This record gives sequence, structure tokens and C-alpha cells, in this order.
Amino acid sequence: MESTLRRTWAEIDLDALAHNYQVLCGRMGPASRFLGVVKADAYGHGAVEISRTLAELGAACLAVSNIEEAQELREAGVDLPILLLGITPADQTARLLACRVTQTVWSEEAARAFSREAERLGGRLKVHIKLDTGMSRLGFPCDEKQFARSREAILRVCGLPGLEAEGIFTHFAVSDETDGESREYTLLQHRRFVRMIQALEERGVRFPLRHCANSGAVVGYSRFGHDLFRPGIITYGIGHQARELGLRPVMTLKTVIGAIRELPAGASVSYGRTFRTVRDSRVGVLPIGYADGLSRALSNRWRVWTPCGFAPILGRVCMDMCMVDLTGLPQAAQGDEVEVYGPHNSVNDAAQLAGTIAYELTCAVSRRVPRIYYRGGREVSRELLLRGV
Ligand SMILES: *Cc1c(COP(=O)(O)O)cnc(C)c1O
Repeated sequence: MESTLRRTWAEIDLDALAHNYQVLCGRMGPASRFLGVVKADAYGHGAVEISRTLAELGAACLAVSNIEEAQELREAGVDLPILLLGITPADQTARLLACRVTQTVWSEEAARAFSREAERLGGRLKVHIKLDTGMSRLGFPCDEKQFARSREAILRVCGLPGLEAEGIFTHFAVSDETDGESREYTLLQHRRFVRMIQALEERGVRFPLRHCANSGAVVGYSRFGHDLFRPGIITYGIGHQARELGLRPVMTLKTVIGAIRELPAGASVSYGRTFRTVRDSRVGVLPIGYADGLSRALSNRWRVWTPCGFAPILGRVCMDMCMVDLTGLPQAAQGDEVEVYGPHNSVNDAAQLAGTIAYELTCAVSRRVPRIYYRGGREVSRELLLRGV
């Protein structure tokens, strides 16, 4: 176990999480409550510990993407309401009820299937109605042409037995982008959202929980709070908008300099020989590779932070290892801790170089990377995700 911990690990700073939580709540004001998005193992940060901390901080509820994620939280004793954002087959209704999960309802057909199952089981399933205001993913379409038809369908859904329609929500496609066209589109999506809510209210149906604000909207449209706001990425202090709000990255992915090699000028490094030394070089071998979640797209592109300076990755990232240039860092020694992503070495920059987004890189930190949780600078718990180590 200790040797695993000394290989590659992720430090999860729960104080940074608390800081981010406070900043985001302050921004949205007291009328809107925090819905913590902890899908995909809390974007790779560890859903159980993140959820426990958000619950302590006062979050109103949590959101996950599937029933297994909800069940994991319930088994860990997390008691907050949980909204399942994704598609669940209606034959899983018994599990939804057993785990006290609130299910997203994205169509009348899906609602009828959940209703039949809940009735048969003698239960009552809480649901939130999903509106498609322009994402073209899940939801009742709210464009001009389909608005009236969707309104009637939602009214029928709200009358179905076995369901309790507690909330209504939508999701933005470009709320994190600041160009004029994107802002127009986000405002259009919001108008469609509000218009549907009003149309339903005129027909006597009022939802206690209305929500639409993802991270982009929290940053760019703080008046979109409604009853709940639903930030994911910025809760973790990352994404291209996190710096604007002074948020702190929650995850620091670390590894060590496992071995140091002296290579002559002209040596090729790693598979494919895509890098050749141009001088006599000092090369560090790091025990982290793409199987740990260090994207192979970062080959020859990213760098790690060491206490003496940055060390660029040389050649291709292998499955379990990669090499870095320590030639300019004579003080760097075997056993030194280095930061792959974190406060000194932003995962946002790595994502840009890899042609992706920070979300994908933290979600990719794999199950063989232990998560170590810190609070007040002290370790409070650890999760060794590979069973049996
Ligand atoms: C993932 C997700 C969020 C959070 O998105 P961020 O961009 O991480 O803030 C919010 N709502 C829904 C429906 C989602 O799927």
C-alpha cells in the first residue's frame, strides 16, 4: 500500500472545495441553493468524500449520471437528495425507489414507463422534468414549433400516478462562451426555459425546484439562479473560468522522479523515437502513464512541475511511465515529488495542449491512482481504488 502511495497519487484538497463552495454560493445569493454535480466520481475527485464534504457545507442536493453512482453514495451513507441526470431504463425503478433517487424525465413516453413501474411497485418516484431549450440532448423540446405540444405533454406527465414532479430544469450549450452569438443563444435558451415554466404555471402546475445554471451560467449569468444552481467543473476549481472567480483547484495529481538517466546527445526517447536529445541530457523516469490517466496526447507537449522548475515530457507517454527532461534542473533528485496537474501546473493548460477540456483529464485519472483527502493541511482519509492493494 505504501509503495502504491509513493508511485502516483491524487491529493484532494477539501479546504479548496469549501472555498469554492463559499465563493459560488456568495455569487448566486441566498435564494438559490447549491446542487453539487458529482457524476463521474465527482469528475475524478472521488464522489463519496466530495459528497460528504458538500453535505457538511450545506449543499441542497447532488446530481449523478446513473443509478450505480447514486447507489455508491447511498451505501456510503450520503443522505442528501440525489438527482439522476441521465437515462435510466424504467425496469430499474425499484432501485431508484430503494435508493431514494430523483429521476430526470426527458419525454412523455419515458414518464409513462416510470409511472407504470412505480404504480406496480406501490411507490412514488420523484422526478424532475427536463426541457430541451437548445442543447438537443434530452428533454421536451421548447422551440417555437414544438412548445405547445411539449406543454401539453408535460401537463399530462404531471398528472401521472406514481410520479411526483418536483422539479424542472434545462441545460445550456454555450453558457461558458463570451462571444456575442453564444451569449444570444444562452439568453434564448433561458427565455425558452422561463416561458415554459410560466406557461405551466398558468395551467396550475408549479415546480418547487427550478434550475438551469451550470458552471458557465454561474460565471456569466448569475441571475439565472432560480431555486438551485448546478455547477460541476468550477466546484473543483478548474475549467477556463475558474481563475476569474479566484477558485482553487481541488485535485493535485502527483508522482515522483522514480529514476534518473544520463543520456548522450542524439539518443531517442520512448516508443516511436519521436524525441531525440540534442545535448547530453539528464532524464527523469516517472511512474505515471496513460493507464493512470496521463493522456498520451500530452506526449512531447506537457511538463511536470518540480520544486526546482518545470520538466518537459520527452517522447511518448507510455502505459505506466513517461520521461521528462531534468537537464536544466541539476538539483532535481530521485524521489522528489512532482506535480502533474495542480495549483502550480494547471490542468486547464494541459487540456488545451491535448486538444480537450479539463473535465476529460480529471475524469481520466484512473482507478489505480489512490485519492488522498486533506483538510486543514492534514490527511483525513484515503481511498485506494484498486481493490486488494
Ligand atoms: C454535467 C452537468 C452539469 C455540470 O456541468 P459543468 O459544466 O461541469 O458545470 C450540469 N447539468 C447537467 C445536466 C449536466 O449534465
